[in-house]
Amino acid sequence: MTAQVDLLFISAHPDDTELSCGGTIVRSVKEGLRVGMVDLTRGEMGTRGTPAVRKREAQTSADVLGAAFREQLDFGDGGLRTGREEELQIIEIVRRSRPSLVFAPWPDERHPDHVRAGRIVTDAAFYAGLRQLRTALDAHRPQAVVYYIQGHMAPPSFVVDVTEWWKTKMRAIASFKSQFHAPGSKEPETFISRKHFIEMIDARGRHFGAFIGAEYGEAFVTRHPPKIENIIAAYEGREV
Ligand SMILES: [Zn+2]
Repeated sequence: MTAQVDLLFISAHPDDTELSCGGTIVRSVKEGLRVGMVDLTRGEMGTRGTPAVRKREAQTSADVLGAAFREQLDFGDGGLRTGREEELQIIEIVRRSRPSLVFAPWPDERHPDHVRAGRIVTDAAFYAGLRQLRTALDAHRPQAVVYYIQGHMAPPSFVVDVTEWWKTKMRAIASFKSQFHAPGSKEPETFISRKHFIEMIDARGRHFGAFIGAEYGEAFVTRHPPKIENIIAAYEGREV
């Protein structure tokens, strides 16, 4: 079920990836890259929806984005476990899907599950490349772990122009009917179910876009700066 992919997006909870990276996923898929998605928990601590509903919604969203697969693990929402057993599960997925880049939450974060997810994915991506760590699959070490920004702001290392793909991203987010603003819903209101939250996602996309002179952008943090082939093209459309 886990196919080989170019980019592997890993999140603590179903819907985290869509909010921070949905446009980048759609753009990458449209440009011919294969994308895999992994949720480390089932989101069972969420106020709204049930794990079964959220799993269905997550698959619908993955289909909207064009992901080759979406896997859901069970590390425990609200207390995400980061032991050796969990690490080995991520190592197996990295070795099976053999991505060039792995995406994870920036570990300096408000939600402790995001912090833990960012750390364990960073470690597992490295360990997956150790040949002497023998599992049923060959070693594979991705080129880099790229971090996406969630609750706490971090200075972006680069921004992806997702203007053309923004509507599809928002359609993927809307797949999570139980979580986000749905007029007439009888579920209890939460921070993320208010209309205001979706407006904030829009504003954040515009804010990050403004950094690169685009209407919408998604920002990422890396510990290794990306190599730039064309420094003039990198600033195309900008003015000092
Ligand atoms: Zn989350």
